[in-house]
Amino acid sequence: MGMTRRDWLKGGAVAAAAGVTAPFAAKADANTFWNQHRRPMASTMTDVPSASLAGGKILQPAREVPVYRTCDVLVVGGGIAGWAAAMSAAKAGRKTILVERDESLGGLWSNGGVLILLATGYLSNGRFTQTTRGFTDDLIKKLEAMGPMAVTGRVPANQMYLPTADPEALKIALEELLVEAGCEILYRCHDVDVVINGNDVKGVVVESTEGRLAILAQETVDATGDGDVLFQAGEKYQQYKHGIGFTYRIGGFDSFTKEAFENARKAGLWFGCNEPCSDNRWYGMFGTSPEGKHNVACNRFDVAGVSKIMMHHRAEAWKSAADFRKVKGCEKAHLIWTATQIGIRGARTLDGVKSIDRAWAAAHLEKDDGDTVAWMGSDGASPKGSRVPLGCLLPKTVNHLTVCGRAASCADDMIDLFRLIAPCLVTGQAAGAASAVASQKGLGPRDVNVKDVQKLLLAQGAYLG
Ligand SMILES: Cc1cc2nc3c(=O)[nH]c(=O)nc-3n(C[C@H](O)[C@H](O)[C@H](O)COP(=O)(O)OP(=O)(O)OC[C@H]3O[C@@H](n4cnc5c(N)ncnc54)[C@H](O)[C@@H]3O)c2cc1C
Repeated sequence: MGMTRRDWLKGGAVAAAAGVTAPFAAKADANTFWNQHRRPMASTMTDVPSASLAGGKILQPAREVPVYRTCDVLVVGGGIAGWAAAMSAAKAGRKTILVERDESLGGLWSNGGVLILLATGYLSNGRFTQTTRGFTDDLIKKLEAMGPMAVTGRVPANQMYLPTADPEALKIALEELLVEAGCEILYRCHDVDVVINGNDVKGVVVESTEGRLAILAQETVDATGDGDVLFQAGEKYQQYKHGIGFTYRIGGFDSFTKEAFENARKAGLWFGCNEPCSDNRWYGMFGTSPEGKHNVACNRFDVAGVSKIMMHHRAEAWKSAADFRKVKGCEKAHLIWTATQIGIRGARTLDGVKSIDRAWAAAHLEKDDGDTVAWMGSDGASPKGSRVPLGCLLPKTVNHLTVCGRAASCADDMIDLFRLIAPCLVTGQAAGAASAVASQKGLGPRDVNVKDVQKLLLAQGAYLG
């Protein structure tokens, strides 16, 4: 007869009370909960020859990589840009796969704990114009339907609409919308190489829990944020340092009285940023060097350095909550969570077919060159934001690859607009639409008629000015 987990625990407690030292020893092979749920199976992994040491060098032998999937559009990276790219391609009816090295979607927005969606539009003459539309609206509606703890409320039309999402609600909403659109999501797949034939990108090689696998595609979208695929493809890029930040969340604020808040303010403590749940606040840090110096720009690709930065930041997050607990009335403050992805503000940007700067953005608010595929909202420095031409997503040399999100092509003075969440979402959608059209027509994204891309984007609710 079967046994429930409760029976198992009860049996253990009874045996222990009876003074039996090994309570489950007699039945260990037959009847414990885990014994019923554990099954031997044949190995699913193929043996691969190990790296060897030869003449002081480590050599990896050549090996065949199995093809795990083929598709029309492959999106590498499941941050907000990758999500929007995959949504666009899947909704256009293309067979779409998204691979992500982590185990949930949203990238820096969810796993990086950056919870407020900035640059969704601009204010002009006291009215808000939302430039991030379509998929953003679908996502916000989905979050709103999940209840008041999922996303902050709407604001009057004369204010900027900058919603803050709960990261757990966000991960679920992103997954459900993407699966509904028909995209296959593959987690724990870290892209480590491209498959390339001449100048044509044919897909990528991922390291997965099933070992090294190839995923082939007509079109590939680099949505890794760090530009990993464009780098592997040998495309030109700019590398730069930026403040490597970190986020964390503190809970317990609902227990604070007015006096407690005042005491904390006098102690010089910061109350962070609002979340949908009033008990919680999220905190974003600017950047600490590996040596612990504050407000320093650092290299994202320095493995040991970034590891130290992560450790510094995590310790500071704990201290931040502990500092609250020292203040009268704030004793219930506690650290809920620290980001599972380090806060990379920038690493590489594509040196693409087009690269726009702030002056170009200002001069092109009314002037349309006919190749607009997205509109990013305002970040203050560009009060009405900027249109984005298709060329910002296109590599100059390799074909069948587009790049979106914080790695898209722009001048230095535009990086801090391009990297915000809403701008990453719209460049992602545009890259997905261009890839969908390219794969349908059997062309590369540089050769598609931009009008076909615009038509698809408009049908998907995008704002193009
Ligand atoms: C501390 C901090 C605070 C910020 N504050 C704000 C803010 O308040 N509001 C705002 O709008 N923006 C803010 N930003 C910027 C914004 O959060 C990000 O720039 C934006 O979310 C980037 O989106 P993305 O999709 O381009 O990249 P990411 O979010 O980085 O997503 C990339 C995804 O690709 C995956 N990936 C990477 N490499 C590989 C690979 N080789 N193989 C497979 N998968 C891979 C990653 O795991 C990740 O899921 C902040 C950034 C930081 C760091």
